[in-house]
Amino acid sequence: MTRTTTGPATTAKPAKRIATTTSTMTTTSAMKTTTSTAKTSTTSNTTTRTTASTTKKTKTRTTTRAMSPRPPALRGSSPSRRPTRRTPTLRSPMTRLKGAPEALARAYDLALLDLDGVVYLLHEPIPEAAATLAALPGLECDPVFVTNNASRSPETVAEALRGMDIPAEADQVLTSAQVVASGILDRIGKGGKVLVTGSEALRAAVVEAGLEPVDDPKAAGAVAFGYTPQTTWRALADTTIAVRGGAYWATANLDATLPTPDGPLPGMGALVGAVATALGHGPDFVAGKPEQPIYRIATARKPGGRAIMVGDRPDSDIAGANRAGMDSLLVFTGVVSPRLALRLPPEERPTYLGWSLAALTEPHPEPDWNDAVDRIECGGWTAALTDGQIVLSGQGDELDAWRALCELSWAAADMAGYDPASSPVPLGEAAEKLLAGD
Ligand SMILES: [Mg+2]
Repeated sequence: MTRTTTGPATTAKPAKRIATTTSTMTTTSAMKTTTSTAKTSTTSNTTTRTTASTTKKTKTRTTTRAMSPRPPALRGSSPSRRPTRRTPTLRSPMTRLKGAPEALARAYDLALLDLDGVVYLLHEPIPEAAATLAALPGLECDPVFVTNNASRSPETVAEALRGMDIPAEADQVLTSAQVVASGILDRIGKGGKVLVTGSEALRAAVVEAGLEPVDDPKAAGAVAFGYTPQTTWRALADTTIAVRGGAYWATANLDATLPTPDGPLPGMGALVGAVATALGHGPDFVAGKPEQPIYRIATARKPGGRAIMVGDRPDSDIAGANRAGMDSLLVFTGVVSPRLALRLPPEERPTYLGWSLAALTEPHPEPDWNDAVDRIECGGWTAALTDGQIVLSGQGDELDAWRALCELSWAAADMAGYDPASSPVPLGEAAEKLLAGD
């Protein structure tokens, strides 16, 4: 993986000031009509939202704005084609970027943090990670480091993070090994016999859950299946024997590859594929992202609390959060760039965009449709759909431009047949200057 941004976080990234080109619109505050950063779980026009948490934070938000300001259609820019009355026609409520009037983490009790591409990249810490993690307690938001990697124990993960000067304790880490053990415990109960195909960390998680590791595949009521570079044909064969005999098959994840200095190499999903090919079916339980168990167990650490997922992979971190009904922050320190974000399908679109994890400590302007059906404003920028092309104009913070571009591009793709792949570069002098730095 390569870091795809051209600089550090918003706080550190020099906010490009790009000369105004075609903009003649007066930009109003993107947050003027709503104070809500709360989860949008209702559809009424005037709504009071209250979360289960009644302590510390103000968890009640009132908005007088229509839930779905996105227009019913986006076909050209002629004012005559604009409807006089907007109706809520969002294809999916998860596809809309939200705003946060103050530091984003303040609106959440729990932040689920992906590791690689978010907190560190391979073995190098993301520059803003240490300061962001240090700031979270002051924002009354608890971190949970969630990882699909089942080969390291929570203690080992926390130690590695501390070695990068990132504050972390073992009880703030949730590995897919722990989730596998939990899933098996739910199925076969305490004391159940488990064939462990995987690392010592996976075996330790099984023992910790009150299960009994066994070597005989025919005695196993379940298989805990996780990645280890030492996996042998014998281990795959024993897994096959156990599952064919009726054992419950729980696997850490289905990740096709692992990131390594030599590039992506066969991961857990490749090993699952070997056994699944022999059996003719896949596992009974998948612990890791984007599957739901890891989200469920992570959020159970703060019952009733509001949670946000922070990740760099739209198809894993963000897609899983969307399926869990959880808000999400997509950061550009891992596998995707803002330009790629323009093309995300509805199920992979985040709630917020950020250059890095530091976006948790920053406010987020909300892209604002105002009364238009074909243009959107964010910060000092305006993105407009004109003759099937998106045109960007204005000036201001670069991330606000990407917010406007993503929001309009997603809406246009959903409702006006706009194909970001066929015209991936928004037109307009401002956009060209912006993209030149992407
Ligand atoms: Mg990642």
